[in-house]
Formats: sequence, C-alpha cells, structure tokens
Amino acid sequence: AVPLVIAVSTALAAKSGLLIRNRTAFEKARGLQAIIFDKTGTLTLGKFGVTEVLPLEGSYREEDLLTYTASLESRSEHPIAAGITGSARDKGIGLKTVSGFKSIPGKGVEGIIDGKIYRVVSPGYLEEKGLAIDNDRVEKVKQQGKTVVFLLEGDTLAGAIALADIIRPESKDAIARLKEMGIKCMMLTGDNRYVARWVAEDLGLDDYFAEVLPDQKVEKVKEVQRKYVTGMVGDGVNDAPALTRANVGIAIGAGTDVAIESADVILVKNDPRDVVKIVSLSKKTYRKMV
Ligand code: ADP
Ligand code: MG
Repeated sequence: AVPLVIAVSTALAAKSGLLIRNRTAFEKARGLQAIIFDKTGTLTLGKFGVTEVLPLEGSYREEDLLTYTASLESRSEHPIAAGITGSARDKGIGLKTVSGFKSIPGKGVEGIIDGKIYRVVSPGYLEEKGLAIDNDRVEKVKQQGKTVVFLLEGDTLAGAIALADIIRPESKDAIARLKEMGIKCMMLTGDNRYVARWVAEDLGLDDYFAEVLPDQKVEKVKEVQRKYVTGMVGDGVNDAPALTRANVGIAIGAGTDVAIESADVILVKNDPRDVVKIVSLSKKTYRKMV
C-alpha cells in the first residue's frame, strides 16, 4: 500500500500541475544537487522568428533563400522549421516540391528540389565539412545571440538565416530559486555557443554546454552525475535518453511524446518554476520518513 503522506502529495502535485510518473524518482528529487535544462523549448519558448536573411554565394536573393529553406523546413518538426515556414507564409512565399527529404539529427535537414540537393544546416555542420566562411554580417548576428542556419546548394553556401527565440519569462525566477536551494543549474543545447552564452548569462546559470549533438546529450548527463545527483529537464525527441539517464527526468508537458514517455515527472503548465515545486514537495513528503 502507498503510505498516506505520499498519496496525499501525489494528489497535491497533480493539483499544482506536476504529473508524477515515477515515485522513486520523485523521492530522489529532494536530494538533487544539479539540474541540467535543455535550452530550446525548455528555458526558451521555442518560438523562433526570422530576423535576418543574408545572401552569400551564388545568385540567391533573400526571397529565393526563404523559398528553398521554407520548402525543406515544411517537412521538419523542429522549432527552427516552424519559425522559417511561418516567416515565408507571412511574406506570401510559395513552396517548392521536395523529394528525398531527410533530417540530419542535431544538424539540420536535406532534400532535393528541381534535381539539386539542398541542405539547411547548423554552423557546426559547415565546420565539419570545411565549408565555414568568414562573413561580417553572419558574425554580427551570431554575436547578437541569434540562432543561425545556412542554406547549401550542393557545396555552395547560398545564404544564412538568423532567428531569435524568447526566453520564458519564468525561467529567471526558477533558476534563482533553485540556486538558493543550493542546486547547480546548467544548460545543454545543440545551438551555437554565442546563443548559449547569451541565455546562460541572462539567466545566471552556473554552467552550460553548447553545440552538443543529440547522442552526446546523455554523455553530458553522465559526466555531471559523476559529481552530483542530477536532474534533467527537456522537451524534445533528442532529450529522451538524457531524461531516462538522469536521476530525475522532467519533461515539459507541451513537449514531444517521446520526451514525455521518458520522464519521471511532467510539468503540465510548461512552467520551469514548477521544478522548484518538485524539489520542495519531495522534501516535504519524505522529510518525516527515512
Ligand atoms: P536544441 O538542443 O537547442 O533543442 P537541436 O539539437 O534540436 O537543438 O538542434 C541543434 C542545431 O541543429 C540547431 O540549433 C540548428 O542549427 C540545427 N538544426 C536542427 N534541426 C534543424 C532544422 N530542422 N533546420 C535547420 N537547422 C536545424
Ligand atoms: Mg529542445
């Protein structure tokens, strides 16, 4: 039988927007020493807007760049894809037919348009392929803390698209309160290091890891676990193994089904301050027990 105090707490948690899927993990929450947050969609809203469209090589004008990128992205479910297709829609841009669509996990997407192969990719992908360029306008938007993706036609760097996301208004308070409880707050992201630094500084995070590929996320959790009892908060498909691995895996309710399935606790209201509630409720529930 479930002790009364725990049954009451589970009900109380549900009432305040916390869905506890794993009670053993919920008990461990009182001993958390570090919490790793995913960036996009967790600490930020994950709602990107296009801020700049920058033609680079070839004869691609701004409108062409949006046409090709949005056509590819219309097949992706990434928050970046939603930002780009939304912007193209607002500008009344028509989409082209894409065949052979594939996503490159943690790096971008690819597909064939009019018989040519196109890719929309991260700065990390360009570096890996030796295609990175030195461009003042691209550097400037990166330094501003924006997310930047590139359109490639074969090996030609057609252009760059800069996007900005919004930090959840509740994130700052959540981090401040967790730090007061003596918990180290960290961030994990596949996005570029400038965006990561900007978010980390704004929120007062203790540490952050940028340009982390999906399969490396779980390795980062293991690394932090060598020193601390570690929680992980995420929302995406890529976060699922890290959520499973963490001592307490927490998913944002609006996240993907995979993340939710892998989590011990679900934040129904998508509010990172509810992470504070998990820790304090776990402390209250198990204080009177051994
Ligand atoms: P996060 O950890 O922030 O959730 P991801 O691991 O999903 O990020 O993606 C990491 C990076 O890979 C993105 O910042 C972007 O540069 C690139 N990327 C991933 N998916 C896409 C996509 N659909 N279109 C363009 N770029 C993408
Ligand atoms: Mg994410």
